[in-house]
Amino acid sequence: MNPPIGTTMTPENETQTESATRDVLVVEDEESLAVGIRDALEHAGFQVDMVHEGVGALERIRRTKPGLIVLDLMLPGMSGLEILAKLREERLKVRVLILTALADEDDLLRGFEMGADDYMKKPFSPRELVARVEAQFRRREMDSEPPQVLELPGDIRVDLHRLEVHRDGQVVPLTPREGDILSYLIKHHDRVVTRDDLLLDVWHYQSANVETRTVDIHIVGLRRKVEPNPSEPTLIQTVRGKGYRWYS
Ligand code: CA
Repeated sequence: MNPPIGTTMTPENETQTESATRDVLVVEDEESLAVGIRDALEHAGFQVDMVHEGVGALERIRRTKPGLIVLDLMLPGMSGLEILAKLREERLKVRVLILTALADEDDLLRGFEMGADDYMKKPFSPRELVARVEAQFRRREMDSEPPQVLELPGDIRVDLHRLEVHRDGQVVPLTPREGDILSYLIKHHDRVVTRDDLLLDVWHYQSANVETRTVDIHIVGLRRKVEPNPSEPTLIQTVRGKGYRWYS
């Protein structure tokens, strides 16, 4: 198991990003449909693997870490939604395109809440599917990974991989949670990050309707470690009534 550091930071994910292979796992119990999808994707230059039930799918994802999963929601063994929940729990970062036969909007919404990136309703044209998969891979390539080592004002250096802050000739350890928060703020430096964003995406709470003071307490702790002057923070800026924003 990986240590619980930022999901964008684990060595596996680095490799995954660098290799950028166009590999797709098709999880669909209807074999003729799965084969049709595989053929269309292979024709478009993707490497495709297939699994026809849920439990095996999860094992395959853990082992091969595909770039994208085409995931049917109704599966024997373990449903598509259960697979999504597991991926999230295990912090396996993989793009997911959901397939659904049902016009069940609740399931779709839950799928998106649990990290799915796109969906297609059956029946669909193979061409449309290929276009959607292409779009996901383009987005994946554009996702900029934050650097592992940050040089901050005040001669402070943060190593997000080792979870260390070097300052004033000392090494101050970051907790995995602090590392996750920092990575998240940096990755989303172009916008205000709300407490709800952090609770949902860093703490992985299903609902943000919980005590948000826990976020503030962590921010205070993080500022003590990375801010040149923690009592007058300039890096992790407070945006009144909204949340926080990374300075860059
Ligand atoms: Ca099915």
